[in-house]
Amino acid sequence: MSASPQRVVVVGADAAGMSAAHQALRTARRTGRELAITVLDKGTHTSYSACGIPYWMAGDVASGDDLVARTAEQHREAGIDLRLGTEVVAADLAARTVTTADGTVVEYDDLVVASGAPAVVPDWALRPDGSAHDGVGVVKTLDDGAEWLERFAAAGDDARVVVVGGGYVGVEVAEAALRHGFAVTVITRGQGMSMLEDEMKERVNAALREAGAEVVLGAEVTGLDTRDGRVTGVHWDGGSRPADLVVVATGVRPATSFLTGSGLEMTGNGALRPDPHGRVAEHVWAAGDCCEVRRRIDDAWVFRPLGTYATKHGRALGDSLAGGSLAFDGMVDTAITRFVHGDTYLEIARTGLSRDEAAGLDVVALVTEGTTTTDYMPEAEPIAIWVMADRETRRLLGVQVVGGRGAGKRIDTAAAVLWSGGTVDDLAWMDLAYAPPFSSTWEVLGVAARRVAERI
Ligand SMILES: Cc1cc2nc3c(=O)[nH]c(=O)nc-3n(C[C@H](O)[C@H](O)[C@H](O)COP(=O)(O)OP(=O)(O)OC[C@H]3O[C@@H](n4cnc5c(N)ncnc54)[C@H](O)[C@@H]3O)c2cc1C
Repeated sequence: MSASPQRVVVVGADAAGMSAAHQALRTARRTGRELAITVLDKGTHTSYSACGIPYWMAGDVASGDDLVARTAEQHREAGIDLRLGTEVVAADLAARTVTTADGTVVEYDDLVVASGAPAVVPDWALRPDGSAHDGVGVVKTLDDGAEWLERFAAAGDDARVVVVGGGYVGVEVAEAALRHGFAVTVITRGQGMSMLEDEMKERVNAALREAGAEVVLGAEVTGLDTRDGRVTGVHWDGGSRPADLVVVATGVRPATSFLTGSGLEMTGNGALRPDPHGRVAEHVWAAGDCCEVRRRIDDAWVFRPLGTYATKHGRALGDSLAGGSLAFDGMVDTAITRFVHGDTYLEIARTGLSRDEAAGLDVVALVTEGTTTTDYMPEAEPIAIWVMADRETRRLLGVQVVGGRGAGKRIDTAAAVLWSGGTVDDLAWMDLAYAPPFSSTWEVLGVAARRVAERI
């Protein structure tokens, strides 16, 4: 045991930072190290599920408290010196210090950067003083969620909600707004749902429309109309819509500006690229949304700000800095969401590469349609599966699924094949469970893979 404790300073008290802090404490008990962990966060909450906010906004989750996995008190009881409302504004890696907004200098032996990626708010959404117009906001933190619920409650029954951004957050928020009975318009660049191929995106857009939302594709929003500081409309090249509320869901960017000038290597977007143990430099570690992640299939670094990576990488980091050897060995780009309203029920999932990402390869890709259970079962719902494989090696490269209840988590089977570097034949011939309420004799995912295999 060292004479004085190893001082660990963590910037960011959510998924990545707190996974790292608690794992470090667990590992330290095993390795006999003594750690003094200080966590600094500029926000007001810790360890909450941002992923659950759209469902809270929809009314599926009763309270924001239900989304909190561990409170500030629970972290402190575990021995962590947690300081909320404390923004880190600078880091001096040579002196091993960080400086907070009130000028306090905090020394560390190891620095953990887990500062996440706040929502990007485009200039068109802001007043000249940098604040958002009334009725305009993002969906990122618990405070944002609470604010949206207040806005929803204050809005009239005939309120018009415009969601800018057709990615998974935009679609989840559209569902929440529809649930409140509002008129919803989703405006997006391109064809929407960037995580999917065009032929799969169309199915999501069709479901949104079927549920009563308007979907405007290929539109770049350029400005807002306002009256007395409140939003009244949204316009883009070629059109405009009146709006009482505008949700900005146009993406996130790493919160690493406090590291500017520190000498740490960052991407143009400000992301860090930690090794599987979370190391970015001597005595500096990072995990979560402020980082890119390595995709195992093509060994590419990609920006995928997802909780599933933040917690895994954070845990590996915490273990490693306390003397363990856990590693986050990349990902295969798996993601899932859903869109539900009235009779419309759609599960949406992807894993692996897109066609664009496989541009250098000779690929075969095909959409197969089927049903989620044997078609004679009353619960059978349509499912469409896109499968892509490499013609030369037969390696499975990507799978996407859009369909009814039970469709989405089928993606995990494909992800497992990708994880192990398997072929499209592996997916076609795997031993997958069958009984009529769950699949057809030939599981539709296997059929989709087999159809591609037959065309190679
Ligand atoms: C609406 C929504 C739905 C989502 N759904 C899913 C999903 O279904 N599945 C999934 O895998 N992921 C989902 N995510 C993403 C997931 O929530 C994030 O990947 C995860 O929260 C990242 O954790 P993190 O700890 O890296 O960053 P964050 O959660 O962003 O935490 C970073 C913390 O750092 C603090 N901080 C930043 N800068 C500073 C500074 N300079 N000084 C002090 N503190 C600072 C912030 O206040 C913040 O508390 C969703 C996100 C949103 C917003």
